[in-house]
Amino acid sequence: MTALSLRNVNKSFGDIHVLKDINIEVEEGEFVVFVGPSGCGKSTLLRVIAGLEDATSGEIHIAGNQVNLTPPSKRGIAMVFQSYALYPHLNVRGNMTLALKQEGQPKAVIEERVQKAANMLDLGPYLDRYPSELSGGQRQRVAIGRAIVREPKLFLFDEPLSNLDAALRMNTRIEIANLHSQLGASMIYVTHDQTEAMTLADKIVVLRDGRVEQIGSPMELYNNPANQFVAGFLGSPS
Ligand code: ADP
Ligand code: MG
Repeated sequence: MTALSLRNVNKSFGDIHVLKDINIEVEEGEFVVFVGPSGCGKSTLLRVIAGLEDATSGEIHIAGNQVNLTPPSKRGIAMVFQSYALYPHLNVRGNMTLALKQEGQPKAVIEERVQKAANMLDLGPYLDRYPSELSGGQRQRVAIGRAIVREPKLFLFDEPLSNLDAALRMNTRIEIANLHSQLGASMIYVTHDQTEAMTLADKIVVLRDGRVEQIGSPMELYNNPANQFVAGFLGSPS
């Protein structure tokens, strides 16, 4: 089953043509990394997939259904932002449960999912704390926990580690890889960090100026970059 299929997706803001004929397939359970320089359209592409922006043209299919007109909360997707985007006036439990309450999930279901996510992310001792009382790494884990409790089929991560220091980045990267194997969900992960891309990805999509430059496994791109641009990002140094 294909988790996500983008077919000739374009996105313009007024006269600015940001995404150009994007065609990408994500298989169920696949970990796909989007890489490309700042401003090439990575965040816009995630927002279009999530439904936070409308595509100007083209089709978005999730788990076999065309979702162009489906609101974000009904797409079976959860997104984790670089900035965490936690609610400061809600404690960790409140941040993690808000979307489930809005969905009208029963209390017992909400509690079970929060406990499960808290265990996975070692957040048990912090459930009553507020974001201002947490470290950057803990905040990012809460943001990931908030996505997990929704049990999405597809996770979208937008440079989730870029605000963390190097040691924490490595730990959190390993944690995300573990989550992927535990949850079995499809994940799309945006980064401009070559190590993250090479270590996490089943498949890498290289974007440049709103276009797909090359798609392949880390080894394919490393050994056979389509051009100098891809080589510069991911290719072998020779
Ligand atoms: P990336 O995440 O790869 O750094 P973005 O998707 O944030 O790139 O941005 C891609 C391009 O789209 C940039 O030129 C940016 O200025 C433009 N852009 C993004 N959002 C908007 C918007 N709401 N209105 C106008 N231009 C936008
Ligand atoms: Mg971005």
